[in-house]
Amino acid sequence: MYAIHHYAGGKAVESKSPRFAPIYNPSIGEQVGQVALATKAEVEDIIAIADAASADWAATSVVKRARVLQNLTHILYREKDKLAEVLSSEHGKVFSDAQGDVQRGLEVAEFAQGIPHLIKGEFSDNVSGGMDMYSMRKPLGVVAGITPFNFPAMIPLWMSCMAIACGNTYVLKPSEKDPSVPMMLAELWQEAGLPDGVFNVVNGDKEAVDTLCTDPRVKAVSFVGSTPIAQSVYATATAHGKRCQAMGGAKNHMLIMPDADLNQAADALMGAAYGSAGERCMAISVAVPVGQATADKLIEMLKPRVEALKIGHSMDMDAEMGPLVTAEHRDKVKSYMDLAIQEGATAVVDGRDFSYNMQGYEGGYYLGGALFDHVRPEMRSYREEIFGPTLQVMRTETFNEAMDLPSLHEYGNGTSIYTRDGDTARAYVNSVEVGMVGVNVPIPVPLAFHSFGGWKNSAFGDMNQHGMEGVRFYTKVKTVTSRWPTGIRSGAEFIMPTLNNG
Ligand code: NAD
Repeated sequence: MYAIHHYAGGKAVESKSPRFAPIYNPSIGEQVGQVALATKAEVEDIIAIADAASADWAATSVVKRARVLQNLTHILYREKDKLAEVLSSEHGKVFSDAQGDVQRGLEVAEFAQGIPHLIKGEFSDNVSGGMDMYSMRKPLGVVAGITPFNFPAMIPLWMSCMAIACGNTYVLKPSEKDPSVPMMLAELWQEAGLPDGVFNVVNGDKEAVDTLCTDPRVKAVSFVGSTPIAQSVYATATAHGKRCQAMGGAKNHMLIMPDADLNQAADALMGAAYGSAGERCMAISVAVPVGQATADKLIEMLKPRVEALKIGHSMDMDAEMGPLVTAEHRDKVKSYMDLAIQEGATAVVDGRDFSYNMQGYEGGYYLGGALFDHVRPEMRSYREEIFGPTLQVMRTETFNEAMDLPSLHEYGNGTSIYTRDGDTARAYVNSVEVGMVGVNVPIPVPLAFHSFGGWKNSAFGDMNQHGMEGVRFYTKVKTVTSRWPTGIRSGAEFIMPTLNNG
């Protein structure tokens, strides 16, 4: 059994907290470690360390900051497989998927190397007699990130690379379910040449989160997790005068038009619904075929594919889907499968009847893939996020009826449309009330140089993750108006300066 504590001021810090949470290996269904749950005083000490490092890091030249990001990128490539293996053992996603988790994070480090260009201000020469005007982007100071279990490498890297490149110091509060990779990242930042105290990790639960959201030294909070917690973090952090972005849950629909290549659509649905056992905020959990014939053919193609899903230990290189993250989460997902059937959905494949040969791993937190047909908008199992390996099929007659489903749903993270018709695709892209849209692309997660963020109850706050939105979130603009003595006329002026009297 290993123990995870905190990381601050360039070194591991032993927690004095009496409270610990268990860490499991979900593939075998056993506790393998424990993680400290920080006390308020411990969080405050770590904020103080980040605060003390803040002025020097903000004053470090932007080129030097970029070089740290460059080093980090190289180190992350070197360590990718090691990180992925640890990630897979605590999360349960299969190794190749865990490599993707690290890769998507290190791409933000790659993008953030361009910070000297990205952070450039604007300059207007001679706006009035001898007068120039310019703006610059300044760091905020200490900023905090609170991250979910499902991307323990990618999401901490989304946030920290942008925050640190912009000249802020950083306190990360990772998920208590898989804290080892965030701790490894702290050491890699250090190896990349980051000064002590710029990247810190505090492990904990609500007590740590509440402290980060209320402490006046923390200037901004970036949160990713479930919607109820996102709403509460957003309300608390903004009430305490902080900038806050809080990404929440999702229910992502894929429309399948009658003219789509159904074979491609079925393959896309398999990866998007069951990859990572459905524990992705951009997983497709609802398929919306348009027309009964499309629906019948789609179900016919999906059923054998779902039944043939290779489920197994996350380090089994043949497995396509591993276990759920904890027994508790597995039971929650299973209860949604029960509910869907009680509500009248047809279980085309019942994931609860999972009978794969587990090769000695029967104790792991596994579920089979479930496929439900005849799902209706009023069902609770449709309205709520399940976050497991279930795909719900909702039959519709028209494009407009199909588009209304994602548009009227409380969540608006991602969606996709499969069609060969450009007009239909364009109408969907322009009108659907969802933040990230794919056209014949099942999981439209923007690359690092664009920005990630949903709409409605999938995100609170105005700015998205990474891309230019990331630079805006982690900086504040200062605008300077300057004139040298030769440009100044003699005599006092008492009216509001305008261009007419300039
Ligand atoms: P979660 O909300 O349970 O936890 C997220 C973070 O909040 C963790 O660090 C956790 O320790 C902390 N937390 C938990 N309970 C808290 C409380 N009562 N008060 C304060 N902090 C608390 O989410 P999770 O189960 O780790 O992650 C899965 C959820 O995250 C899903 O809903 C998924 O859709 C969502 N998610 C969203 C995005 C996105 O970009 N929209 C990305 C990934 C995951």
